[in-house]
Amino acid sequence: MTTSQTTDAGAALAAVEGIVGADRVTRGGLGDNTGLFRQRDVLASVKPGSAEQAREVVSAIAAARGAVSVHAFSTGRNWGLGSREPATDTVVALDLSDLTAIRDIDVAAGWAVVEPGVTQGQLAGLLADTERMVNVTVSTAHSSVLGNALDRGVGLRHQRVEDLVGLEVVLPDGELVHVGWWPEQDRKTPVYPHTLGPSLVQLFVQSNLGVVTGATIRLLPRPEALRVVRLNFTPDNLGAATDLLRRWVTQGLAAGVPKFYNPTAARGYGSAPGQFLLHVPVDGTEAAVAALSAIIAEEATRSGVFTEVSTTDATDPTAEHHAVTSLVERSYLGDPDVTDRVFEQKMGMRADQLDSDLGFLFFLPLLPFTAEAVVKAEELLARVHADTGILAGGTGNVLGADLVDLVVAMKFDRADARAAHRALDRLYELFSEQGFLPYRLDVDHHGWIDRVGGRPSARAFARRLKDSLDPTGVIAPGRYL
Ligand SMILES: Cc1cc2nc3c(=O)[nH]c(=O)nc-3n(C[C@H](O)[C@H](O)[C@H](O)COP(=O)(O)OP(=O)(O)OC[C@H]3O[C@@H](n4cnc5c(N)ncnc54)[C@H](O)[C@@H]3O)c2cc1C
Repeated sequence: MTTSQTTDAGAALAAVEGIVGADRVTRGGLGDNTGLFRQRDVLASVKPGSAEQAREVVSAIAAARGAVSVHAFSTGRNWGLGSREPATDTVVALDLSDLTAIRDIDVAAGWAVVEPGVTQGQLAGLLADTERMVNVTVSTAHSSVLGNALDRGVGLRHQRVEDLVGLEVVLPDGELVHVGWWPEQDRKTPVYPHTLGPSLVQLFVQSNLGVVTGATIRLLPRPEALRVVRLNFTPDNLGAATDLLRRWVTQGLAAGVPKFYNPTAARGYGSAPGQFLLHVPVDGTEAAVAALSAIIAEEATRSGVFTEVSTTDATDPTAEHHAVTSLVERSYLGDPDVTDRVFEQKMGMRADQLDSDLGFLFFLPLLPFTAEAVVKAEELLARVHADTGILAGGTGNVLGADLVDLVVAMKFDRADARAAHRALDRLYELFSEQGFLPYRLDVDHHGWIDRVGGRPSARAFARRLKDSLDPTGVIAPGRYL
């Protein structure tokens, strides 16, 4: 930084302290992150007490004329992709976790207005025993609904961006705008995110065009009944199991996001060593669920592809997988389990210990939903294991007839960080060569956006938007744009 930039940054920080109070500003970096990504030069972490304070902080940073920028996060549990770290240096971190208001809610109409610090556990708790539910993820119950959606996270019903219907955004010059659908005081309008004209909500997803201080979130109708059919199979049957699963999805038998787990990932759900696991959710009325699960179980058994087929894990208290499958079923019904039992079983520790005690990385490519692609992806994970010694869990989230979000998770001893990062680099290279491109980036691989982020003309257009809205780089330079 030049002397004048240091002066501008210092003045901005003093202004920020004046806005939020000195007790809400912590000077210095963000501490450990579970990915062991390089810790950025973070000047301070600021925790506004209200959305208006967050807006004023952005205005104060804008006044620093590019000497410093602001990186916002909601609850900062972006584990494996950087946790709270920004993409670049010389940044003030804007920690929005104290903005925990559910400002308004209409259960019958299916929406809630939430702030960034509202967790999935908090919102789900409010909806318990109602006819609506939240599309929850399998991350901790204490992660943000909004933060996850803003990075295109994936819930158990669909990708979370589908739940974003309206956003309250602070633009780089400090102006506050409401895009998409918002409730009106005097009349009830149907929930519809696009409004007339260009659809603006998605402009602020994986985006550094604004800081989001609130959102209208869709609440989904809760199915009357739901069951998860559990199937196990050996690695030689991966292609055949994929074909069968795809048929159940395309023919409308499965609901939400069916999941398949490679043997490393399946261990977290109690499967025997060497076994793949498949969870196929079916939902609707009681009669529909009974019929659909029976059809799937009968076809699965007849196929000879599976070593185990069960439709009764959750209803039979004596079943070996009763506890875990019950929790899985509840999460498909919008209950993220505030005690984090499955999360802790998978991670081997409490959520608040991850950043200091565990090594953990994510790589998140999209695959075509074909047997060929799924088998190829598993081969690539084996190759990375052979090359680096790092064993990756692979969980396939089926996002429709043609798309799989493959969650590649690497849990490692923190002393093995170098090998784990070598594995991560290999994953980017090998998967991208095959056309299996990542749809979320970790903080050390943001540069990959020019290699895998669409056509050059689209990138140039996005940068023109950024330059015209944020010429001095007030908001999160390098983050996706
Ligand atoms: C065991 C385990 C299971 C997991 N399961 C899932 C899963 O099922 N699905 C899934 O998607 N992820 C999953 N994750 C990954 C991660 O934990 C979640 O995505 C989590 O919700 C992200 O943390 P957060 O909600 O605190 O978001 P944050 O970390 O707050 O936000 C994520 C990013 O979005 C941007 N952002 C956030 N808030 C704002 C804002 N207000 N304005 C502008 N930009 C903003 C920032 O760049 C931030 O870095 C899992 C992780 C683990 C360890």
